[in-house]
Amino acid sequence: MSEPEIIASIIPKSLGEIDATLRKKILRQELLSRWENIFGAVATELEFVKLDGGVLVIASQNSAVRDFVKYGAQKFVQKINEQMNQGADFVTRIEFGRSLNPPPVVIEKAPAPAKNPPVEVELTAEEIAACKKKAAVISDEEQRQIVLKTLLSYAKAEKSRLARGWHKCKFCELLCPPSETVCDICKVKERAKLRKRIRRIFYDAPWMPFHEVQEKISAEFPHLQAECTLDAIESARMDLIAQSAARVSYGDTTSDAAKFLVMLIRQLPREKLTPQIINRTLKEFHFNLADRPPFDEYEFKKMPHRSSRKIKKSAAQ
Ligand SMILES: [Zn+2]
Repeated sequence: MSEPEIIASIIPKSLGEIDATLRKKILRQELLSRWENIFGAVATELEFVKLDGGVLVIASQNSAVRDFVKYGAQKFVQKINEQMNQGADFVTRIEFGRSLNPPPVVIEKAPAPAKNPPVEVELTAEEIAACKKKAAVISDEEQRQIVLKTLLSYAKAEKSRLARGWHKCKFCELLCPPSETVCDICKVKERAKLRKRIRRIFYDAPWMPFHEVQEKISAEFPHLQAECTLDAIESARMDLIAQSAARVSYGDTTSDAAKFLVMLIRQLPREKLTPQIINRTLKEFHFNLADRPPFDEYEFKKMPHRSSRKIKKSAAQ
């Protein structure tokens, strides 16, 4: 006999007379220790809920496992009684109940209570005629019918969108949802423009604090509010720094390009530049300059980090 079998056989039935609760606890523990022996491969998918008057209540999240156990219930009951050695009526049937450890409630996204549920629309005779006129340029009958079908369904989709409050994009003829001002295609173009604009702002005023740049671009690109972030500003500034550094030769501390680069890196106006600041900045930055000397002549320096104190300071102003 295995250890659990010995324990089962020595649980005195009279214990129930002394302490029913304790006996129940011991038997439950005993049953759980044999769980895998009894249920085999599906054991880990089954949760013990309670054992009450011969009814073993279990739970499972897996419907295939539930079916499997229901199908073989008689066999499992027999197996339990054999293993537990508490008589043939220790467990008389198995039932499925509610888990004691239900999985965390996942708030299911209601099946898209679509902001803009489709609206059934019909095309007017004029609208259909307009589609036919467009398709008429195709001479092949079969092809013309295919094109006409496409045009009609497109016209219908557009009409349905208008009925749902869609409107023309701020920059083109495409329709966009009520919540947007610009269509997706224009958004891509506008994003590139925004980046270019930020570079231009720093080109004209390399010392400008980030929050001022942000105010400017937010006013100029109201349709890209979510993208006028300090990160976007810093990223565009880094582009300009890299571009400008490529125009400054190693050792040059006097040209306009060199001074501009220092103003940009330090975010300082021209009048605050001193020879010391220029020398120190360019020395720290020399790895990124044009015509740099061979590697062993200088020490590796990275470009200024994007979240340096300086940036945070100006962003917080
Ligand atoms: Zn557009």
